Amino acid sequence: MKFVDEFRDPELARKLLDRIHRRSTRPTRLMEFCGGHTVAIFKHGIRQLLPPNIEMLSGPGCPVCVTASADLDRAIALSRLPEVIITSFGDMIRVPGSYSSLQKAKAEGGDIRVVYSAQDALHIARDNPDKSVIFIGIGFETTAPTIAATILQAEQEGINNYYVLSLHKVCPPIMKTILDLGEVRLNGIICPGHVSAIIGSYPYQFIPDNYNIACVVSGFEPLDILLCVDMLVNQIESEQYDVEIAYRRGVKPEGNQPALKLMDSVFEIGDADWRGIGVVPSSGLSLREKYRRFDAATNFDITPEPSREAKGCICGSILRGVSTPQDCQLFRTSCTPDHPVGPCMVSSEGSCATYYHYGDADGG
Ligand code: SF4
Repeated sequence: MKFVDEFRDPELARKLLDRIHRRSTRPTRLMEFCGGHTVAIFKHGIRQLLPPNIEMLSGPGCPVCVTASADLDRAIALSRLPEVIITSFGDMIRVPGSYSSLQKAKAEGGDIRVVYSAQDALHIARDNPDKSVIFIGIGFETTAPTIAATILQAEQEGINNYYVLSLHKVCPPIMKTILDLGEVRLNGIICPGHVSAIIGSYPYQFIPDNYNIACVVSGFEPLDILLCVDMLVNQIESEQYDVEIAYRRGVKPEGNQPALKLMDSVFEIGDADWRGIGVVPSSGLSLREKYRRFDAATNFDITPEPSREAKGCICGSILRGVSTPQDCQLFRTSCTPDHPVGPCMVSSEGSCATYYHYGDADGG
């Protein structure tokens, strides 16, 4: 574990913290957009170690959490069609939709299977030629290339019973939306590490250029995050805003070109429905015309009932950074990881689950 240890060195962490404390003089509000960062920040107690003038907010970077109830309802409706197998990442199964969940639909007889990758879903399609196998495609630019690869493979192998319900989302447009909403005033953004490994750092340049907000891409180890905060503080204190990378071992400014080409060959930019925000133009990925025969959204006839949110759940405003889980009256009372009311308590990257598991250690 030498590699990980290097990024958890307490002496280096202390030096970075000393520098952050010395340099940071003004009220500073940072948002981490990625749910993975939220978990890492809480797990390592980083909020507590920072000077009190630095406030950290969590943003909309948990793919399960931002999936709109209406989209989840569509997935549940698809699971009720005859001769259909639904395949999904595990967390999605437990998220309550408007009236049910995939887990309940499974208990009622639906053929719903947890997979670890879209490749697993393609295997299931290969093994079940008489069934329609639908993969519930969630996630950001990180997962979309792998799902694009399965569609190309299905085409190559002549697999005609494999479909994707593309609920994929892209990051930069939702960052712009959050900033334009103006509900939270930010000084700096901890840009996502895994997404940036695919898209690079250039797509965030509009943030310092148009909003005078510091941007630094971070990895997920404690030293990555502390270095990122140190770089953000440096930009904020000097009022020199730019996009920098504190995760050089994972992210190049130009991103991963082969992965971007793969994604672009199968998907095109489309609108996406975000929990708590609504439909954001050009913030999602739809299948290109050429691959529409793999599109679950257009190949099955379903009419889900109008969607509704769980009473009392404030996941939407938590995802916009306006509220924290502690603002929710159901937090730790009627909403717990064993009995989640909303997706932010289901997902391992959800803010509510993170506050629940690590909040005490972090003062949350
Ligand atoms: Fe929703 Fe539960 Fe989080 Fe409240 S604690 S916002 S009910 S997920």
